[in-house]
Amino acid sequence: MADRSKQQEQLGAIARYYAQACLWVQGFSYHDDQTHMCTPDYSCCRPALLAPREERELFVCALVMGDAETVERMTTMFLGRLNKHKLP
Ligand SMILES: [Zn+2]
Repeated sequence: MADRSKQQEQLGAIARYYAQACLWVQGFSYHDDQTHMCTPDYSCCRPALLAPREERELFVCALVMGDAETVERMTTMFLGRLNKHKLP
């Protein structure tokens, strides 16, 4: 039973992540306070970092298609922008 509840919790987190990603593509960035997840480009917490729509679409397509290489490459790119943004 414990396993089942953990599985449901994980499925819930995945559903929340996809819902956040779908809204992010549309330009609505929100930080998920329940899972503590930022949008892929961190624009929920730093609006100036909102990625261009083409990039958001590419990321979500890669995510849905299971293109881990593109997801990883873009995640690194978004993280790089966040790091640059923090510098004075
Ligand atoms: Zn955030």
